Amino acid sequence: MKREHRFPGDMPAEEFRRAGHQLVDWIADFFNSVYQLPVLPNVKPGDIRNQLPDTAPNVGEEWERIFTDIDRVIMPGMTHWNHPRFFAYFSITGSGPGVLGELLAAALNNNAMLWKSGPSSTELEKTVLDWMRQMLGLPDEFWGIVYDTASVSSMHAIAAAREKIGLQIREKGMAGRSDLPRLRLYMSEHAHSSIEKGALTLGIGLEGIRKIPVDAEFRMRPDALAAAIAEDRRQGWLPFCVVATVGTTSTTSVDPVNDIADICERENLWLHVDAAYAGTAAILPEKRHILNGCERAHSFVFNPHKWLFVPIDFSAFYTREPETLKRAFSLVPEYLRTAEDHEVENLMDYGIQLGRRFRALKMWFVLRYFGVQGIQERLRYHIQLAQEFTAWVDAHPQLERMAPVPFSTVCFRALPLKLPEGMTLNQFNEHLLEEINRPREVFLSHTKLGDDYVLRAAFGNLRTRPEDLEILKKTIDTALNTLQG
Ligand SMILES: *Cc1c(COP(=O)(O)O)cnc(C)c1O
Repeated sequence: MKREHRFPGDMPAEEFRRAGHQLVDWIADFFNSVYQLPVLPNVKPGDIRNQLPDTAPNVGEEWERIFTDIDRVIMPGMTHWNHPRFFAYFSITGSGPGVLGELLAAALNNNAMLWKSGPSSTELEKTVLDWMRQMLGLPDEFWGIVYDTASVSSMHAIAAAREKIGLQIREKGMAGRSDLPRLRLYMSEHAHSSIEKGALTLGIGLEGIRKIPVDAEFRMRPDALAAAIAEDRRQGWLPFCVVATVGTTSTTSVDPVNDIADICERENLWLHVDAAYAGTAAILPEKRHILNGCERAHSFVFNPHKWLFVPIDFSAFYTREPETLKRAFSLVPEYLRTAEDHEVENLMDYGIQLGRRFRALKMWFVLRYFGVQGIQERLRYHIQLAQEFTAWVDAHPQLERMAPVPFSTVCFRALPLKLPEGMTLNQFNEHLLEEINRPREVFLSHTKLGDDYVLRAAFGNLRTRPEDLEILKKTIDTALNTLQG
């Protein structure tokens, strides 16, 4: 296509219209045919890179050529998270309305660092966060903000907790201070690694993190937490924060948040709840109890990009102390002052980033398109798929379930009838996982529980059909047979 402009300019609108229709058609075809694609790619490290030129094109290329390379270069290297048989890690969905929201957000390209720089995005963000707060049954006082990931949300929680102790870390930092005891943060052995990374980032140090043992169902033991805090105080540490998990990453276990909140209130510690995956389940009245005690937390995070059908990234963070969070982060240079500062919330004041994407748009589309009932119906379906798979595992002569299944994630392993010569049970299960994933029909991942190597199957993609569950079972049986040849 000829590009005739009086100034260099953007892609002409008419060309954009044709290219856009072509791409949207491609996406609709992808959604229709993703069942037939392998969920895992067949590539070695470097295979994709080797097909790409070493330098950017000097002269602009035709859209047609760029478009063709989606199928030629990109698709062969895709691990398909939006695939109905992606059962690894946590199964997620970039849904149709969510994808459309991303498209529009890019077109508007709004940066809501200030209310003035994005009234619609600032106010829509507050609105969708408040809708979701109500859907989860969290208290009115919970103030919300969107960050990119749960890792970043939790890092902000720990920063607020650190600010709350009032030892002028904002002003003086932490190094070389004889007036500052070493800070201690508590989480269970099963809490997510992002909590440790957040603490690392904030200068707490790995030794400043104390991992509390769990009970037989992988939940933090409040008695052990209380004992650890008492011991630390005796030894001169300054406890400042406890992170409870609702839906741990390995087994989706739920810490006893009420008991932990009792301890935090008594000890005057910030309580942060990480409900990245499982928080969404509280939209179901029959699962609402999983958040019991979370109304007492100082901060709370859950990830709509995990089980609430928005494309990655979208993490919803709530706190009852936005002023503490603001004290930790607000720093306003002259050129960012506005006439409305006294009457609006400028979202840049509540975190490390200045610029922010218009993420609320995709969330708004998803919540409106499916509605609360439509979302509930879909969550129940995923839980039902997990229950059916659980029943199959429990009845299987060569499989053993390794944890309770409160949500849509199942931990299991093989107990083979005959273990091949010289192979440990853990090695057998490692081989089994490879053998299950090898045909690229399904994708499972693993974890370790104690010393045991454990396989995980997570359900959460909107396109997963009952047939896909059958394919999963058949693939596991085939792999079991192959390994015992
Ligand atoms: C997935 C997960 C996280 C990390 O989420 P990101 O958004 O990828 O940072 C944190 N905590 C828990 C419990 C998780 O399951």
